[in-house]
Amino acid sequence: MRRIRLLVFNAALGVLDYREPEGLTLEYGSVVVAPLGPRQIIGIVWEAERLNTKEVPDTKLRAVLEVLPVPPLSAELRRLIEWTADYYCAPMASVARMALASSAALRGGGTTTEYRLTGVEPARLTPQRAAALDALQGEQGSIRELAELAGVSEGVLRGMVGAGLLESLVIDCDRPYPAALPDFTQPQLSDGQAQAAQVFVEAVRSGGFTPFLLDGVTGSGKTETYFEAVAEALRRNRQVLVLLPEIALTENFLRRFEQRFGAPPILWHSSLKASERRRAWRAIVRGEAQVVVGARSALFLPYAHLGLVVVDEAHEVSFKQDDGVRYNARDVAVIRARFEKAPVILASATPALESMQLAEAGVYKRIELPDRFGGAQLPEIAIVDLRSEVPERGRWLAPRLVEEMKVRLGRGEQSLLFLNRRGYAPLTLCRHCGYRFQCPNCTAWLVEHRFSSRLACHHCGHETPVPDACPECGTPDCLVACGPGVERIADEVGELLPEARIAVVTSDTLNSREAVGNFVAQAEEGAIDVIVGTQLVTKGYHFPELTLVGVVDADLGLEGGDLRAGERTYQQIAQVAGRAGRGEKPGDVLIQTRHPEAAVISALASGDRSAFYEAETQARREAGAPPFGRWAAIIVSSEDQAEAQSAARAIGGTAPRHPDMLVLGPAPAPMALLRGRYRYRLLINARRSAELQRYLQEWLKPLEFPQGVRVAIDIDPYSF
Ligand code: ADP
Ligand code: ZN
Repeated sequence: MRRIRLLVFNAALGVLDYREPEGLTLEYGSVVVAPLGPRQIIGIVWEAERLNTKEVPDTKLRAVLEVLPVPPLSAELRRLIEWTADYYCAPMASVARMALASSAALRGGGTTTEYRLTGVEPARLTPQRAAALDALQGEQGSIRELAELAGVSEGVLRGMVGAGLLESLVIDCDRPYPAALPDFTQPQLSDGQAQAAQVFVEAVRSGGFTPFLLDGVTGSGKTETYFEAVAEALRRNRQVLVLLPEIALTENFLRRFEQRFGAPPILWHSSLKASERRRAWRAIVRGEAQVVVGARSALFLPYAHLGLVVVDEAHEVSFKQDDGVRYNARDVAVIRARFEKAPVILASATPALESMQLAEAGVYKRIELPDRFGGAQLPEIAIVDLRSEVPERGRWLAPRLVEEMKVRLGRGEQSLLFLNRRGYAPLTLCRHCGYRFQCPNCTAWLVEHRFSSRLACHHCGHETPVPDACPECGTPDCLVACGPGVERIADEVGELLPEARIAVVTSDTLNSREAVGNFVAQAEEGAIDVIVGTQLVTKGYHFPELTLVGVVDADLGLEGGDLRAGERTYQQIAQVAGRAGRGEKPGDVLIQTRHPEAAVISALASGDRSAFYEAETQARREAGAPPFGRWAAIIVSSEDQAEAQSAARAIGGTAPRHPDMLVLGPAPAPMALLRGRYRYRLLINARRSAELQRYLQEWLKPLEFPQGVRVAIDIDPYSF
């Protein structure tokens, strides 16, 4: 009898022992079904010596039931799962689940069923069926997906299938993807690009782990450069993973990819349909998927033979996951490449300080592209000091910025105004009694959205219509908007430049691939004069007629005292500035601020990036912050405030003394109330060499908490 140790998909159970059934040989990494009481669970066969569990006597072991028809997870991927769980203090089961993506896909075979309208329109319909008929025009998907789209129950749709209003279609999830061809086009690279590409191609050719930092200014053509490495991987029949921060923004990327390789890459992100997800997963695990472009969750997929990993816009915050397994996809990408013995390219115009430091230390190979492609110049950056250049009363744009916009409009060029605030105004209050609209679930004001006439919380999604009267004192028409959001700035532009065609670009307006496509097409055709947008417009776009960028409020991100605030502000402004003057016409950037003396702002104005990194390095060194020391956060939450607070205090009270650790708090977390849960935070500052994870495990493991309390560990938290 052979004992089989399974990592099962249940974080609470974790590891369970079974025995190998007669006549079946189980490999490490095989995905199997096993009995658990009267139920069945899915698990992965693991090396027993690498997982601890309570040993069950041989006689009590039950047999594994069946092996699912998918290739076993490779040893490299199993090591990655172990590493991630260890480093981020997360349950291995939760990490493994990201690799398998969906157990339904594993159990089902190569086909699935989708539904669509038949076109039959009966004379009489229930209101729900009528609503579904309306909502599902041109749609196709599983019953669950269609039910969600139409806002009706699955039962209603099943009834419609029975009545012949919906028909089923069998979807073949194993149909091949069109092949990407390494030499579909031959790009003309600049000398700098060609040199960089050569280094990457060589690294892919020889294989082995080499981490690169592709440090190139905005518009230098980093994408075209790493495409050559992708081409080489294609020639060698190795798979490529490209991680991108915001999948909604990939339209432009996809088009460029297709132009270069003659076929689109395979997409992986959270809003894929179930059938697309299954198709992609199966192609990935079989090694047929050549290039996968995805959000951070694509990182853990079971690639059969990964030959290159690229993380584009590697400095982006969205690579850090902030719930479930709290990992940083940029860092795990490097680890994955190490286990797979493959090169990894981190591309950015504004690398994170941690990445810069690793390049300086020689751990990453730095490849620089200091010039813009095609001789385009970097934009001129100037400061508008709002203390002396005061906008008109009730306005937010300084006269100089407005003048410059008028000049662009006269020349038929585009302007872009950047303000990282969705909606009309960040705070709405009653002019009569001072009542402020606050989210019932979060420590946040409700943001007025004029397009949709609603007040919305940007943290939990709570929404309510804008009332006609104050809910507190009942005075009608008494609400005033405080401060600007992009919608308000757009109104102001409309008043100042009535003939300008304005586009507001936020996640509210660009909420589908179609909307993104329309916006890009209009902007490229010159059908838009002024773009007003949030951080969605800071990256990726290339509009040749865009010659002016205005940063409405550079100080916004500097509030709050977070140690990363400077870096974040620098990156955002440098990225948005990088949208200006990418074509033949030079660009200008005006930064509105009340703190022109701040290190970030003056470094931006003088174009002296190294001055910024030096100041930032100094501040981090003094604070013992990364990369000089390490931080971890313990977040304790409960729906009951007293319960959360007392649990947090109990944790604080048991902190073991350690010469390398400094424990701060507990204090209310930055979002003290989030989605109905009260949150307290302890921060741990550790020396760089300290065994932080072990310390945390030993501290927290023996502690027990009431049912409603959740304790989450965040290693390398984004804000500290
Ligand atoms: P980055 O990502 O470094 O900001 P991009 O890769 O977006 O820069 O390139 C900037 C622009 O220059 C894009 O429009 C791109 O198509 C163009 N470009 C870059 N390299 C080349 C090349 N070798 N041939 C033609 N166009 C290029
Ligand atoms: Zn909320």
